[in-house]
Amino acid sequence: MVELSPKHPRYHSLLIREKIVDGFRKGLVVPEGLIAHGRGECFDYLIGEATIPPALKAIRAAAAALITAKHPVISVNGNAAALVPKEIVELAKLVNAKLEVNLFHRTRERQILIAETLRSYGAKEVLGVDDELIAIPEVFSERRMVSARGIYLADVVLVPLEDGDRTEALRRLGKTVIAVDLNPLSRTSRAASISIVDNIVRAMPKLINEVKDLRSNYSLEKIREILASYNNEEVLKESIRYILNRLTELSRSLKLITYLSVDSRSTGF
Ligand code: ATP
Ligand code: MG
Repeated sequence: MVELSPKHPRYHSLLIREKIVDGFRKGLVVPEGLIAHGRGECFDYLIGEATIPPALKAIRAAAAALITAKHPVISVNGNAAALVPKEIVELAKLVNAKLEVNLFHRTRERQILIAETLRSYGAKEVLGVDDELIAIPEVFSERRMVSARGIYLADVVLVPLEDGDRTEALRRLGKTVIAVDLNPLSRTSRAASISIVDNIVRAMPKLINEVKDLRSNYSLEKIREILASYNNEEVLKESIRYILNRLTELSRSLKLITYLSVDSRSTGF
């Protein structure tokens, strides 16, 4: 790992990037995962690398969906396991969700490595590796294979960093799909029931806190109401408007980073 100074202006972003690269070196993340991360970084730049108000609404609804689910499942891929393994296990314990490894680029080694990573953070059971798998319709990648005791049975599935095809397929099967995706325009975001437009690194701790907060301050009836009144289309539109307004503001107030000595040398003053 490279030594990063907290004083570096891009410290947090670089720290996350190092986690992904480290995951790649360990074999958790595939090269395609690095590219997907880069796309995420771009949208993170656009939202200002902070959790935006519409994401907070989605996080609240997601917590309500997980609390009221009969059979919640958290689907885990390489990037998620590299970035937030501890939080994934903590959330699963908190809402009694099953953990399932589900990979687009599926190899047995990677499945085992991801399951081991989750176990090293305290997961007792990890599905999708050695248990019975069933193919779900209309998914054309290896992600169509899901655990008979996990996603196949699930009523609510949390899919951090998911692919559009599978989100759509899971919705067609009648499942409530919670996505974490920095891109509000992706098929995943548009097909999910609840789209958290935020970096998974920021969203997961907030989701854990939200579950705790709802549980200790609201009745089950009120939590159901929060979920029922949630409008994902509105939240996605709000996310896009947030980016639009931010860019409009920046287009007016953008400050150049100037280097006087270089400027004066090059212009001869
Ligand atoms: P879709 O299949 O939904 O149309 P896509 O093909 O554009 O989306 P994929 O490569 O399938 O994208 O998945 C990568 C997605 O994950 C991107 O939309 C990217 O913004 C998002 N992403 C990457 N890293 C993160 C992260 N750390 N937190 C949240 N989202 C992320
Ligand atoms: Mg895709």
